[in-house]
Amino acid sequence: MKILVTGGAGYVGSHCVRGLCDAGHDVVVFDNLCHGHAAAVDSRASLVRGDLADANALRTLLAVGEFAGAMHFAAFLDVNESVRDPLKYYENNVINTIHLLRRLSDAGVRRFVFSSTCATYGEPERCPITEDIPQGPINPYGHTKLAMEWAMRDSAAAWGLGGCALRYFNAAGASADATIGEDHDPEIHLIPIVLQVALGQREQVKIFGTDYPTPDGTCQRDYIHVEDLASAHVRAIETQEEGVFRYFNVGTGNGTSVREIIEAARAVTGHAIPAEETPRRAGDPPALYADPTKIKTELGWSPKHTDIGRIVETAWAWHQSHPKGYDD
Ligand code: UDP
Repeated sequence: MKILVTGGAGYVGSHCVRGLCDAGHDVVVFDNLCHGHAAAVDSRASLVRGDLADANALRTLLAVGEFAGAMHFAAFLDVNESVRDPLKYYENNVINTIHLLRRLSDAGVRRFVFSSTCATYGEPERCPITEDIPQGPINPYGHTKLAMEWAMRDSAAAWGLGGCALRYFNAAGASADATIGEDHDPEIHLIPIVLQVALGQREQVKIFGTDYPTPDGTCQRDYIHVEDLASAHVRAIETQEEGVFRYFNVGTGNGTSVREIIEAARAVTGHAIPAEETPRRAGDPPALYADPTKIKTELGWSPKHTDIGRIVETAWAWHQSHPKGYDD
């Protein structure tokens, strides 16, 4: 299939591009490279540098070839920034996605896979999280993602969009060959921050809150390997039918605490990784982990990486071979 991948130069997008190429698909990446990296784009895919706000660029691109589907990763993802500057998030994550859906509708593209998030559940009433738990995001980032799930659901009924929202838990790790990995600027995620301490680029990691109602007092998250996320996307686009809206949690089902991540990184790197206990970070729910039964049953997907030590190992191999991230 010929597939358009917006944001295909980003962390999750670039791994999905590789997964699509491995599965024999013909991939065109559309990315403005404001956060993505050209070097992360698989050489079998073509890269078009452009912005989703530029309707003409998208129209031209979609007119050139017969695309069978699209995957949409181009979005902002910093929760704290979304609180400070919500309109930036509504502009990019909502308005630009609406533009994209319009262009896909005009071009007759009916398969669409969307990066949603467990942040759409807000503070869920129970864990593990099943898809029938009511969605109630607690920050602008989560609001924008939920708004797009609604737009997809309504588009499925109105004009036949075949949409699949994949609600990711915490994307982690790097490709098995350590050639693509996580490179955000600024870095805000726990695993890369911990590994930057091991590389001597930071003095210590801060543990945000040790008084949560969890077994060791620190927050639990479901760290899902980025290559497992990629295989979920490939399954989703290959099985998508027109006029149907689907949604799946994508996680391992394991809750791993902040302390457990730091311990895993100490074991993998052999570095002491000093940690300072600090107050809670605003807006962090105590525990978020998936019940992945629905995606396992309906898509026949299951994660290959379930051991957190192995997940951290792949991230460490990437960080060691790219201590300053990508060259560009
Ligand atoms: N966290 C932490 N110190 C850091 C960064 C993150 O203690 O320097 C915690 C954070 O409070 C959360 C977990 O690690 O409980 C995962 O945070 P991350 O930002 O990686 O992902 P999130 O779950 O917020 O999407």
